Amino acid sequence: MKLKSIILSSSLLFAACGSMQAQSTQVIAHRGFWKTAGSAQNSIAALVKADSIGCYGSEFDVWLTADNQLVVSHDATFKGVNMQKSTAAQCTAVKLDNGKQLPTLQQHLEKAKQLNTRLILELKEHKTPEQETCAVEGILKMAKDMGLKDRMEYITFSRHATKEFIRLVPAGTPVYYLEGDLTPQELKEWGCTGADYHFSVFKKHPEWIKECHDLGLKVNAWTVNDSKDMKWLISQGIDFIPPTNR
Ligand code: MG
Repeated sequence: MKLKSIILSSSLLFAACGSMQAQSTQVIAHRGFWKTAGSAQNSIAALVKADSIGCYGSEFDVWLTADNQLVVSHDATFKGVNMQKSTAAQCTAVKLDNGKQLPTLQQHLEKAKQLNTRLILELKEHKTPEQETCAVEGILKMAKDMGLKDRMEYITFSRHATKEFIRLVPAGTPVYYLEGDLTPQELKEWGCTGADYHFSVFKKHPEWIKECHDLGLKVNAWTVNDSKDMKWLISQGIDFIPPTNR
């Protein structure tokens, strides 16, 4: 389902639900808005297109390369190039499906400076904690130097990177953990902004949505494409939904 149709559906659902809580549900473009002409997953075009349709935020994935540079890509190995084992020059030589070169984080953020959407940065799990700490430090320095620190939100499956973001981000910067294996109380104790879990986790633990809100935590359920699941999550007052653009 295309994101535009999801947003349209969501608007209709908001009107139908009619509650203030349901109206607060926001759409995040997962890997940008890419299932559309001229776009590609994690491309700069996907960021621009997500911004153009008024998404709350545009999500993208970041790796630290072998020469300690930051590049935007989802897969550990993309089109035969392993992001962690290759230099930035090797990674950015890869062509995305829209014919553009794989972007560096610097290039992604340079374009973002001209836009308004929030920047939902996922740091991928790396082979060592040292790599993740180096990535976190580099990301936060770049966001600060580029004047974007107030538009950034950080997400990761890595427990180490989650703790490093929480330790190092400017006060008030959202940090979410993705794995789905911490309770709302544990997330609160860690200092997370909220739960950013696969929607099946909330199907299994529907009480976690209210528990999060009662603790002052936000709730984000990722890659929801089925309208039935989406309606259920919105009816539960979920804060963010990132569809997968299918
Ligand atoms: Mg991601």
